[in-house]
Amino acid sequence: MKQVGFIYDDIFLSHETPERHPECKERLIAIIDTLKTSDIWDKLIHIKPRKAEFKDIEAVHTHEYIERIKKAEPGYIDSDTYLSGGTFEAALYAAGGVIEAIDRCKKGEIERAFCAVRPPGHHAESEKAMGFCIFNNVAAGARYAQKRGYRKIFIIDFDVHHGNGTQHIFEEDDTIFYFSTHQYPHYPGTGSGSEKGKGKGEGYTYNIPLNSGSGNNDYLHIYHDILPDIVRRFAPDIILVSAGYDIRAEDPLSGIRVSDEGIKSIVKGILSCSEHSAISHHPPQAESAKNFSIPVIFALEGGYDLQALGKSVLLTIKEMLT
Ligand SMILES: [Zn+2]
Repeated sequence: MKQVGFIYDDIFLSHETPERHPECKERLIAIIDTLKTSDIWDKLIHIKPRKAEFKDIEAVHTHEYIERIKKAEPGYIDSDTYLSGGTFEAALYAAGGVIEAIDRCKKGEIERAFCAVRPPGHHAESEKAMGFCIFNNVAAGARYAQKRGYRKIFIIDFDVHHGNGTQHIFEEDDTIFYFSTHQYPHYPGTGSGSEKGKGKGEGYTYNIPLNSGSGNNDYLHIYHDILPDIVRRFAPDIILVSAGYDIRAEDPLSGIRVSDEGIKSIVKGILSCSEHSAISHHPPQAESAKNFSIPVIFALEGGYDLQALGKSVLLTIKEMLT
């Protein structure tokens, strides 16, 4: 059984959103309730997030933007992103959750982690909040991972929406690969197949836009027949996952129709990449190399049907434990 860290703290509930806003604290409550009543709760290594330091956030956001969020009065900061009195603090801990998971992997305490955090991150651009996202948790995690000695980072984003923020932050970087599957055309409008990165980052962004109505079979094909080769060629030292469960058929913000089976096959495909890339990157000369795999850290993004969200996270973690 793999050593799987579960990163969570009630601090994430202090990011409050108005009545009927889809990105609500009940999302995390649903996840915790589902996990607690399952047989896996006691198998997880429970870890508290840390508060990200300013320098960790400044690695991917401008100083001016961070100051603006810190000083902002409660209210909407764009058409759908809300800031409450507790948001700034919660957002620092959300990025800090991914950072803590990276440290624990580096120390060898865990091999994989699931970060049940909010606010989500992948729409957040370097200088602006967007799409319920304040700080880009996975992007901050990627830069922190490099500071801790993980040289090459592979980011996989299966949220139904394209992670415009993450793509833009790293599009000129050849040490951080961004791979995304998402409904297209759909919010936020980016993520066509022709967006492949810029400058020396050209070829290090890979988008697979999907029509509304796509489902399990499309994902099975992508995550088992396409993704593993791309990861193997890049040979990363760690994999970070923007885990958005708004791909579920039940989700109110999605036209993608993934079920329990689809979630399992996506996660299996991702985890298989962590074994394969390790083999190509570190030739198995030593006996110990046989069982070597690179760390995989999932960070929660979307997912707005509470029941489907709880079940999907449970299924994800069950696969991670095997
Ligand atoms: Zn989403």
